Amino acid sequence: MADKCSCTCSCEATEILIFPCSGASNVGQIANQAGVELTKAGIGKMFCLAGIGGHVESFVESAKGAKRIIAIDGCPVQCAKKTLEHAGVTITDYVVVTEEGIKKNHDFDLATEDINKISDRIRVSLGIS
Ligand code: SF4
Repeated sequence: MADKCSCTCSCEATEILIFPCSGASNVGQIANQAGVELTKAGIGKMFCLAGIGGHVESFVESAKGAKRIIAIDGCPVQCAKKTLEHAGVTITDYVVVTEEGIKKNHDFDLATEDINKISDRIRVSLGIS
């Protein structure tokens, strides 16, 4: 079975890779959307956390070769962080959405200000204002 991604989801090795947990809650989806917005702004690239979780070799090697690894978790369960660490990928920048004053719930009508808050937090971590 091929272990290379043939989709168009930016699964290429790059300098800054972004791994949101993309969890099934507002904060998981805020993490995901912050990753999307950062990618659209040209600040790093979204990468497939599921590929890391599945220990797909090419994905893990690409992540290990990146200069910065950004993990964005929705809540203190820390799924993205644990997934990356389990694969031996070192996180350089880390944000937990609930630690930024956003409460976890299952309302998927996400507030733009919450998404911006998390993407801004990553920009600060990267030294980009
Ligand atoms: S970190 Fe929290 S929001 Fe994200 S996938 Fe895990 S439990 Fe869900």
